[in-house]
Amino acid sequence: MIGLELPDVAHWSDRVVVALGQNPSTFTGPGTNTYLVGTGARRILLDTGSGEPAYLPVLEQALGERGCEIQEIVLTHGHPDHIGGVPALRERFGDLRVSKLPWPEVDAHYDVPIEPIDHGAVVRTEGATLRAVHTPGHAPDHLCFLLEEERSLFSGDNVLGVGTTVIPPGTGDLGQYLDSLERLLEERPSRIYPAHGPLIEDGPGKLREYLDHRLERERQVLAILERGAASLDAIVAEIYAAYPKRLRAAAAQQMTQHLRKLEAEGRVAGSGDPASWSLA
Ligand SMILES: [Zn+2]
Repeated sequence: MIGLELPDVAHWSDRVVVALGQNPSTFTGPGTNTYLVGTGARRILLDTGSGEPAYLPVLEQALGERGCEIQEIVLTHGHPDHIGGVPALRERFGDLRVSKLPWPEVDAHYDVPIEPIDHGAVVRTEGATLRAVHTPGHAPDHLCFLLEEERSLFSGDNVLGVGTTVIPPGTGDLGQYLDSLERLLEERPSRIYPAHGPLIEDGPGKLREYLDHRLERERQVLAILERGAASLDAIVAEIYAAYPKRLRAAAAQQMTQHLRKLEAEGRVAGSGDPASWSLA
């Protein structure tokens, strides 16, 4: 997503305005998409960026263009580039309600009172009904939101406008992530509004592409191990042979997630340090 540029404010539908979080980076691409959702004088703000000072004027521009205020804040998850903007927003706009699925040890890093919501929760405003879908894998507290009036989907970090989702070591879980993608596919969303990158017009097509990408990686790992035991480095070197070497560390992280998933399923086993992986 490096080099991809998006406008600061864009109107992606009659009910959805995006304001860019002003936090571009290797991990966030053009920055976090924060969304004003609804059609009335008070709208839901979905995600808040990382707290960059340059974000407030951009959000105020978006509010001005639609002549609306913020009704409340809803968060897809507790990663810093989604929750980080909350304190400044509450300072500027007053004690807005902030709803998310709790992840106490992470939420505690922010001075934010959390209104707990979970799978199936509905948040309403004029012209918009958001229904939460628990989608762990990228983060344990991750919620996606279906916008019922459009049957569109706010995918958070589960599906991105460009590139693939990172499953972080430690707190991420690839098996859960793939289950989450399947659950979203069952909802047959129309378009997808991702937390990073451009609008996705073909929601089901993109979800299938994401699932196929991961299953293809899994097939590649298993094909290598069918020829004999291999280390993580050897697996990564073969699968990512065509990619620049600087991406190898990130590739190794994602490959570790694949091996852990296959291990949990009893299909591969690792032993030694560094581990040698083989078919179980
Ligand atoms: Zn995230």
